Amino acid sequence: HTYANQASPISRRRASLMVQYLKSSNADGAGTGVNATVTETVTQILDDVRARGDAAVREYSERFDKWAPDDFLLAPQQIDDIIATVPQQVIDDIKAVQARVRDFAERQLASLSDFEAEVEPGVFLGQKNIPVSSVGAYVPGGRYPLLASAHMTVLTAKVAGVPRVTACTPPIRGEIPAATVAALHLAGADEIRLLGGTQAIAAMALGTESIGRVDMLAGPGNAFVAEAKRQLFGSVGIDLFAGPTEVLIVADEQADPFIVAVDLLSQAEHGPDSPAVLITDSVVLGQKVLGHIDEILPGMPTKDFAEVSWREHGQVIVVDDIDEAYALADEFAFEHVQILTAEPRRALETMSNYGALFLGEGTCVSYGDKVIGTNHTLPTRKAAHYTGGLWVGKFIKTVTYQEVTSTSASAALGELLGRAARVEMFEGHARSGDVRVAKYAGRSFDW
Ligand code: NAD
Repeated sequence: HTYANQASPISRRRASLMVQYLKSSNADGAGTGVNATVTETVTQILDDVRARGDAAVREYSERFDKWAPDDFLLAPQQIDDIIATVPQQVIDDIKAVQARVRDFAERQLASLSDFEAEVEPGVFLGQKNIPVSSVGAYVPGGRYPLLASAHMTVLTAKVAGVPRVTACTPPIRGEIPAATVAALHLAGADEIRLLGGTQAIAAMALGTESIGRVDMLAGPGNAFVAEAKRQLFGSVGIDLFAGPTEVLIVADEQADPFIVAVDLLSQAEHGPDSPAVLITDSVVLGQKVLGHIDEILPGMPTKDFAEVSWREHGQVIVVDDIDEAYALADEFAFEHVQILTAEPRRALETMSNYGALFLGEGTCVSYGDKVIGTNHTLPTRKAAHYTGGLWVGKFIKTVTYQEVTSTSASAALGELLGRAARVEMFEGHARSGDVRVAKYAGRSFDW
């Protein structure tokens, strides 16, 4: 049954049918889901930067951002001059938010531990956590100065202990995003470049005459940025596929429909391709939310994006009960999932696919995006099926080591190895065991 007009779709479907639809419409699995034009454009820019380095970077920056300074790198004096133009309240707020992000990241870091165990006499196995040496942090800014991404990416890498964090952010319509530069500097960025899009990602990952290549890329961005990271993955590490933002709200009849409407639209303003979905077991709530959206949208200062996103990607789905809503939300596997039900913590027990959960009316996705302290760089386009969001652990390599100090333990392992390797027909491996068995028994070993 359809309850509303085409522009504001509300539908009651059986969850199982909806789940089937979702599966068939995402046959490419947890990819970035970008279209062929984006893929081709990105491939071409990457090839060109690979071949022509700085000259290509400059041309693309000029073409897409009308920005081609002598040097994209900001010198220390330039950084100071730019920061001097930022109002004190903005600086104080950046510091306050960064203190919260740092605190949460440090707590997460404390949950990562090195350990060593003597698993049998004379056999030591251990695990160590080592930060990657260099990170390229992308802070989006084509449309808005997303300075919050500076806290999330640069600060988190610094808390993880990454020695070199190089950051890129685009100019916004030809202007220097001063507050973003301040946030990058206060977060501890070692280099700051005013450079955006695929050309920035390419320069950091591939290296050019003027930019040293990094080991890992991190940070969100538009479809071009996300696709560039996907194509470069392998030659460089990446944090996750963090593309155009998504919000899904699970609400029951006790939810405040005005708040639901505001929170859906607040995410739809990110860009024209940001899906906002409400799943509810209450037709009445769904209809009230649609009514509020129709009221709010025309007066929204960012309606150019929010309206397109809502009209093209917005959905209100009515299911039979809240358990069905949680199950369907799990199939969506959205970046942000907000729970506005009588018992929001039930979602913690029942749901498993989401980037971040926002429990109850007291918080919202925008708190997570900008101020509360959890990381806002989160998986999109179903990547939440296999990963969580950005955190200190993403910048850390968990490596292992081993030592055997007992000759009898080594000989026993050598005998086991000899048999295990020969099953696999690895004669060379087997002999690494044989030679130890012979040596520790005082026998000579004939290769
Ligand atoms: P952006 O910095 O990601 O992209 C701007 C750059 O895109 C420009 O510098 C330009 O070089 C390039 N570009 C624009 N049009 C192009 C074209 N036709 N061909 C090639 N390159 C082109 O900034 P944005 O566009 O404002 O997008 C920010 C994105 O980040 C949004 O989609 C938002 O939803 C997303 N985001 C995601 C998360 C997350 O965690 N998933 C968090 C924050 C933001």
